[in-house]
Amino acid sequence: MSVRGVVFDLDNTLIETNESALAALDVTCDHLEARLGTAVAAARDTFLCVYIDLENALIERRRQFESAYQVRVETWRQTLAHLGQPASLAEEMVEYYAAERRRRFRLYPEVPAVLDAVTAAWPGAILTNGFTDVQREKIAAVGLGRWLPTAIISAEVGAWKPQPEAFAVALRAIGCRPEEAVMVGDSWKHDIAGAAPLGLRTVWVNRRGAPPPRGPEPSAAVADLSPLDQLLRHWNGE
Ligand SMILES: [Mg+2]
Repeated sequence: MSVRGVVFDLDNTLIETNESALAALDVTCDHLEARLGTAVAAARDTFLCVYIDLENALIERRRQFESAYQVRVETWRQTLAHLGQPASLAEEMVEYYAAERRRRFRLYPEVPAVLDAVTAAWPGAILTNGFTDVQREKIAAVGLGRWLPTAIISAEVGAWKPQPEAFAVALRAIGCRPEEAVMVGDSWKHDIAGAAPLGLRTVWVNRRGAPPPRGPEPSAAVADLSPLDQLLRHWNGE
């Protein structure tokens, strides 16, 4: 079956997210210490533990949030409470963190050329887990709409990867049946394990050379997006 469309994950696939989020978190923790006038041990690790718990609860539908802002405020409230610090500082921490994140929004270097080639040949869409406020801000800041005018944000459609409904929305957006589409993403759990059982071809973007987890095998694994155009052409027998 020929490839007729491509679905892209956003964070850590097109946009560098993890490193810039950690860098923003570090300076926010420094700001907290400056604000309190005292050292705060383990602020970063406490924040990350709280955040991961909340994110899992969100994806597994055990908690409901309306925006990334709300998630961040709740994360800082719980973090400050664990640290024995005033939870009233949560909003201020969120504003500081958001400004530091904004300064760091960037596409991976190979992305513009890859999207030039791929989207000239096939329709594409973004399918991302997250909320309107931050995801749309990021997409606009790095100009992704130029190549991928359709972005499906999980909170807007009420379905989060790896739920099949999320992929169904993306397939409709690019006008493809599952066997005609390719899912490109860095998350084995959300992108690969979500799309592969539905019959999409999958490209696992493994930028850090992680060992492949157990579960559905991706159709291909790449260290960055550079080989993508050639890979899609190869699948189409070119
Ligand atoms: Mg991702």
